Amino acid sequence: MQDQTVKRVVIAGGGTAGWNVAAVLAQQLGPLLDITLVESDEIGIVGVGEATIPTFRSFHALLGIDEREFMRETQATFKLGISFEDWGKIGDRYIHPFGDVGKSSWMADFHHLWLMGRARGLAGDLGEHCFEHRAAIAGKFAESEKSMIKYAYHLDASLYARYLRKKYEPKGVKRIEGRIEWIEQDGESGYVTALVMENGDRVAGDLFVDCTGLRGLLIEQTLAAGYEDWRHWLQTDRALAVQTPSTGTIPPYTRAMARSAGWQWRIPLQSRVGNGLVYSSAYQEDEQARDELLGNLEGEPLTEPRLIRYVTGRRKKAWDKNVVAIGLSSGFLEPLESTSIHLIQIGATRLIQLFPFGGNFESLAARYNERTRSDFEHVRDFIILHYKLTERDDTPFWRSCRDLDIPDSLAERIELFRESGIIQPAAEELFKVASWLFVMEGQGVVPRSHHHMGALLGDQRLQRALESLRNNIGQAVGQMPRHEDFLKRYCAPDRR
Ligand code: FAD
Repeated sequence: MQDQTVKRVVIAGGGTAGWNVAAVLAQQLGPLLDITLVESDEIGIVGVGEATIPTFRSFHALLGIDEREFMRETQATFKLGISFEDWGKIGDRYIHPFGDVGKSSWMADFHHLWLMGRARGLAGDLGEHCFEHRAAIAGKFAESEKSMIKYAYHLDASLYARYLRKKYEPKGVKRIEGRIEWIEQDGESGYVTALVMENGDRVAGDLFVDCTGLRGLLIEQTLAAGYEDWRHWLQTDRALAVQTPSTGTIPPYTRAMARSAGWQWRIPLQSRVGNGLVYSSAYQEDEQARDELLGNLEGEPLTEPRLIRYVTGRRKKAWDKNVVAIGLSSGFLEPLESTSIHLIQIGATRLIQLFPFGGNFESLAARYNERTRSDFEHVRDFIILHYKLTERDDTPFWRSCRDLDIPDSLAERIELFRESGIIQPAAEELFKVASWLFVMEGQGVVPRSHHHMGALLGDQRLQRALESLRNNIGQAVGQMPRHEDFLKRYCAPDRR
């Protein structure tokens, strides 16, 4: 067997990215590696990033995390989807739920039956045929071993990094506190050899994971891996974040409310609510944005609004030489579909799959970069979709979104759906049929045609099939407890 030449892994940065990478490396490859994480309390973490998607649960399964303990410690709540408000037109609202609609067959997806039913006046609204959608609207939540409900969480980002640290430091992650002053490289190859700390200490390694956030201390400031700027497609470049008190009712979904030059989020935790405004500085001054955010809060702010600047896009090479960038250092897509933590976790698991045990960096990096590019592009297209499909023309920002030139990959997808109702994402794509369907339908795209398998059933059977699906879902949701009641029983913080 070839010797293992890469053993010392140094993770620079201890935010959500750094601690996710450290945790999964320790849990899955611990006996084979020496893992060190360097972070600076003085610099701190970005501290936003509080909404997740269902893949988060698969990652936690890899970590062997106990759900109740995690939820208690991070003030987490359940999330069944996202409510989009005022996106298509002012006054519109639709939910993008995590669940599927009906059962699809090999011939066509279920929504073709629904489209036929709708055309013949036999079907209700799309969301009535999706369990997670109905539960979200009703403010209900329950899970059991038998339940197939698809869900994710809202969590407190600062508590989450702390929680992972508490759990995984004892499992073999060596933590070093302090500021990294400069990066030492091999004179010939340019490979990184060590992080040099403010106090002069050297943290040497074989593989470095850059989790230093938007700075990209290793991947950009040292290796200059390059950045693909996507602001011509996704125009927001600033966010203001602020917290408000909990209001008692805890909806099991995130709210994304379109505003004059962007959108506002509302993320309910057990103890408080996270809010923020994402906007384009080309269309809105910071002061105006602050007023718009503060004027649209439920409850008094608990904190001063915090400004975060970003450039939407991706690092051209997420893995360069012996440095792998994971988290904000690898690129940033606005949080409209809560995808950043997912991209961190997929990056971390991919690193495990492609781990360069024998020092064979180049071929593995090429593979890693190709897959990462494709992940970022798929998410990018899905986010652009929400802006492109707007019919709003009340502000210059929304007019520019409507008139946007979009990537060909996305234009083809929208056209296929408009023509035929067909979606068919590739197997490796994050967003599946139901996600594309709910957003396109929610923003007013009506397919000109659809698959005719429903005609094989005849009107009566089609109507009965749709009705019985709606009734079954209605009954199941009717028996569920309210979300906040379930949380109290399941994972309220221990107040002893
Ligand atoms: P950071 O949290 O910035 O951590 C960087 C780390 O590097 C820190 O520990 C810091 O101390 C350390 N560091 C930096 N420089 C040095 C140095 N010189 N020496 C030592 N240490 C150093 N994601 C979602 O999935 N869902 C969301 O709802 C969501 N909302 C978001 C909203 C906004 C406005 C933004 C900006 C992001 C959002 N994200 C969201 C993304 C999410 O916040 C990040 O992906 C996540 O927090 C990971 O950040 P990070 O760990 O890469 O960086």
